Amino acid sequence: MDMLIGGKHISSDDLLEVKNPYDGEVIDTIPIAHRQIADLAITEANNAKESLVEMSAFKVSNKLFDAVKKLEELREEFAELLTLEVGKPINESLVEVDRSIETLRLSAEEAKRIYAESVPLDAGLNGKGFFAFTQKLPLGVVAAITPFNYPLNLTIHKIAPAIACKNTVIVKPPTEAPLTVMKFCELLNEEFPDGVVNVVTGYGSEVGDYLVCSPNVDKISFTGSVTTGMMISQKAGMKKVTLELGGNDPTIILKDADIDKAVKGIINGAFLNAGQVCMGVKRVIVEDGIADELAEKLVNETEKLVMGNPLDKSTTLGTLINEKAAIQVEETVNNAVSQGAEILVGGLRDGAFYEATVIDNVTPDMDLVMRETFGPVAPIIRVEDVDEAIEVANDTEYGLQAGVFTNDYSKAMRCAQEIEAGTVFVNKQSTFRTDNMPFGGFKSSGVGKEGIKYAVDEMTKTKLIGLNLR
Ligand code: NAP
Repeated sequence: MDMLIGGKHISSDDLLEVKNPYDGEVIDTIPIAHRQIADLAITEANNAKESLVEMSAFKVSNKLFDAVKKLEELREEFAELLTLEVGKPINESLVEVDRSIETLRLSAEEAKRIYAESVPLDAGLNGKGFFAFTQKLPLGVVAAITPFNYPLNLTIHKIAPAIACKNTVIVKPPTEAPLTVMKFCELLNEEFPDGVVNVVTGYGSEVGDYLVCSPNVDKISFTGSVTTGMMISQKAGMKKVTLELGGNDPTIILKDADIDKAVKGIINGAFLNAGQVCMGVKRVIVEDGIADELAEKLVNETEKLVMGNPLDKSTTLGTLINEKAAIQVEETVNNAVSQGAEILVGGLRDGAFYEATVIDNVTPDMDLVMRETFGPVAPIIRVEDVDEAIEVANDTEYGLQAGVFTNDYSKAMRCAQEIEAGTVFVNKQSTFRTDNMPFGGFKSSGVGKEGIKYAVDEMTKTKLIGLNLR
């Protein structure tokens, strides 16, 4: 598949094969672009700014709604491509496409709601006699740099609100899984003037870095690892930056919880997309009194998962993004075992597959739970009481989302107020998101929020206009 720059298809002498992590077969090739091509995309995106600003909000909204219809028509085709490049079960890919349609629809709606406000300057010293109001203006060019795990939906979370408030975009898709994003940008490009949507493929360390450092890009909207995010924040200079980074999300289960409900939540949260979810359940923090029962039920449910060909509708656990990623998970788990943790189920790797694994007697100082383990692992940390649970939950550099299962609402509120995370759910695992909610972590998990209305806030600048009427 080619890049898309200024409405034209552009290739490169360097091509990279995109492989299916399930069977290693080549799905397609993508160009490996270099700095000159990233520069061309920046020029085209800047040249297209005027054409988008001239479109009415009504027209922008309708164009985004047209894209919604097209994506709906191609739902199955997109889901299959997603499964081929990421290795996620087809049913999960269909959910990602459905969420992408929803994200796009919310953006089409939001395009008609770029409201600002009137400001009572007479509330300030010497402000009497003014009529003042703000405007929310597009920033200009937004660069969207996105990760492999939910490539389609996470990219749409950036480019759809960016266009809704009239920014042009340059997308740098993940090298491991670029195809659905590229296909979607082709679809979106049909709706807008040339140069509004541009796609540059190539390595993040070269083209991504070039976009981050360029003075002619107005905003970096990044989703990915903490390491890359830190680098971006140091290099971006004066431009606006949103960073949606990794998580090490705790889910706490207290003694009075509905254990079956909690188990169902943990199965979803720890094993969805083979555990490659930023807001996945990465630490199961459980009160000692119910830990044995919870562990047993968790093992029973884990054994029901079906690992296999991700295109097969009965598969519930697909591959990781590649074998290297699976080896990394295997090493981290084995390391925890050597320090005293005990595998209750799973623990074996086969190529890019890693079994759904429940591991008990994990202590908070093990690497497995100190860092973000990006694989299908549910580590159980046993605690004495709610105080220790909160202490352990907060003992991390991350703060994306959290969940607590309890029927004691005073303890629920304590957890909700004291856990340092962008979102705390009660009686729901951390792994939950609707596409309109403010999403984004505290601490090293990021800066800024997404969720269409919130993304628009971060992709506009506010101008005040004051008329002195005296
Ligand atoms: P990553 O390695 O940080 O890559 C993310 C994107 O950044 C890719 O497109 C990558 O390009 C690009 N990139 C790499 N180096 C760069 C640089 N120096 N300058 C600019 N761009 C650069 O992350 P990943 O492994 O794909 O994704 C997994 C991580 O994302 C996990 O930590 C996960 O928790 C996090 N994540 C967070 C959220 C959230 O919303 N908070 C959602 C999903 C995932 P290449 O592919 O070419 O290297």
